Amino acid sequence: MKATVLDATAPDGSGAPPGGGAAPAMSAGPIAEQAAGDGNGSYRRPRTIRIRIKRQAGPDAEARWEDFDVPQRPGMNIISCLQWIAAHPVTADGVATTAPVWDAGCLEEICGACTMLIDGKVRQSCSALVEKISTDGEPITLEPMTKFPLVRDLYVDRSRLFNDLKRVKAWVPIDGTYDLGPGPRITQKQQEERYPLSRCISCGCCLEACPQYTPVNRFVGAAVISQVRLFNEHPTGSALKDHRMKEMMSEGGVGDCSKAGNCVQVCPKDIPLLESIARVQRDATWYALKKLIGQ
Ligand code: SF4
Repeated sequence: MKATVLDATAPDGSGAPPGGGAAPAMSAGPIAEQAAGDGNGSYRRPRTIRIRIKRQAGPDAEARWEDFDVPQRPGMNIISCLQWIAAHPVTADGVATTAPVWDAGCLEEICGACTMLIDGKVRQSCSALVEKISTDGEPITLEPMTKFPLVRDLYVDRSRLFNDLKRVKAWVPIDGTYDLGPGPRITQKQQEERYPLSRCISCGCCLEACPQYTPVNRFVGAAVISQVRLFNEHPTGSALKDHRMKEMMSEGGVGDCSKAGNCVQVCPKDIPLLESIARVQRDATWYALKKLIGQ
């Protein structure tokens, strides 16, 4: 997503700085902008939160850190801090810089695009509320994920994840777009088991946390393995089970999982990833046995 250049977090949505008035010149210091009059001639400075961003103009450019002081408002999340910085791209030292670049879509933990490292922990920046991040007076640090190729600043290219979903055909095949009538019946118990798996938002948190998933290997990671389970267990989706199991038993498949368990710790949707991995490994063993005895 292109960086937002207006301050969408301004109370009136106008892009104006807090306290009203015209948008500041790029060279104005952020602290100075925050002065707000109380109408009696005295001024107060709103509380600010310091955000430290790892900046990198491109994959081969040198990385650097920049600090920004952002006026704190109730209910702010990391995305609203970034929007404020994009609208006021001046560092805490008063140096004009470029607007930081990041990816985001829905801002409600559905699109999975705004994943980054916040204080070293991988998570969605839309649901990272500033008030709930314990800073101990230290800046909140923002870094891009490390397992996907960097595009710029906090923006990474997650294509590998989507290509791996294609690799295992993570979908229910249909033979046309006409009305196919009602699908096969699924029991309440099956629905309850599968619904959590369908909540995956392809955010990549599990892949960032996984020691087996590296920028140079072919491991598909927990998200894709869990989708294999979801579609293999679907009555119509199971038509592609043979293809999926072949992929799961090849390089980068479920056999590459070391059961570190980090994935399940960071998944924002609480998906039972270890259970999915165990289920797919069991199926892979069964398929391997069948192959061995020539069935
Ligand atoms: Fe994100 Fe969880 Fe899906 Fe992994 S399994 S991509 S952490 S939602």
